[in-house]
Amino acid sequence: MRRFSKREVAEFYRRLSASRPIPQTELEFINPFTLLVAVVLSAQATDIGVNRATPALFALADTPGGMLALGEERVAELIRTIGLYRTKARNIIALSRMLIDQHGGTVPRDREALETLPGVGRKTANVVLNVAFGEPTIAVDTHIFRVGNRTGIAPGKTPLAVEQGLEAVTPAQYKHGAHHWLILHGRYVCKARKPDCPVCAVADLCRYGAKTAPAEMIAARAGAVTAEPLVEGKKRRKPPPQPSPAGGEGGKPAPK
Ligand code: SF4
Repeated sequence: MRRFSKREVAEFYRRLSASRPIPQTELEFINPFTLLVAVVLSAQATDIGVNRATPALFALADTPGGMLALGEERVAELIRTIGLYRTKARNIIALSRMLIDQHGGTVPRDREALETLPGVGRKTANVVLNVAFGEPTIAVDTHIFRVGNRTGIAPGKTPLAVEQGLEAVTPAQYKHGAHHWLILHGRYVCKARKPDCPVCAVADLCRYGAKTAPAEMIAARAGAVTAEPLVEGKKRRKPPPQPSPAGGEGGKPAPK
């Protein structure tokens, strides 16, 4: 695959940034702590699903102390519509306790410290550093991993390799927004099953060898609605949700 030139990379970001001038996370939050909680909850869940549950949770607890006072059972009850909610409730209580014990109840602006928190790995730390503290970090989730590899802008076998590739090629002026532009491009245009190549703003720069043809895209969109024959009285099944762009590392166990 031919590598992107500097000019091509700049043009790639110029077009993505033009389509979304204000890059921002779709997760709802109030402060760095609620952002951290929302990102932890978003592991293997959609932002929409997380945003449905968090207003009630954050209305009752938007600080580590508030979360501890609420307790694991009540947190689990409030987030039960989100996958892995029991593990996530345990992690949220454990990380709240660590924030109080080790960081004065605040979210640290430090990758290593963030990664010691239960349920928080590199990706979640990158999202928090970027969104809460304005750092130019690029959190590689499933969407960015796909976009980096498909387009050829930063191919890599692992999320870390793609992250490092993006770090190396992304011009400084686009680094802070890159995470959001790439995620949203992957979520809404360069979709996993059938990318919308005919309407893609960077199609001429993209190196993907199996771009979707216009007729295929129309058929795929129609199929998403009518793939299942409608039976009298039976509702259409919704397409499966996309994983969250800002997903945390929900499988990471809480300390005992
Ligand atoms: S042309 Fe297709 S594969 Fe390439 S970035 Fe656009 S949507 Fe993705």
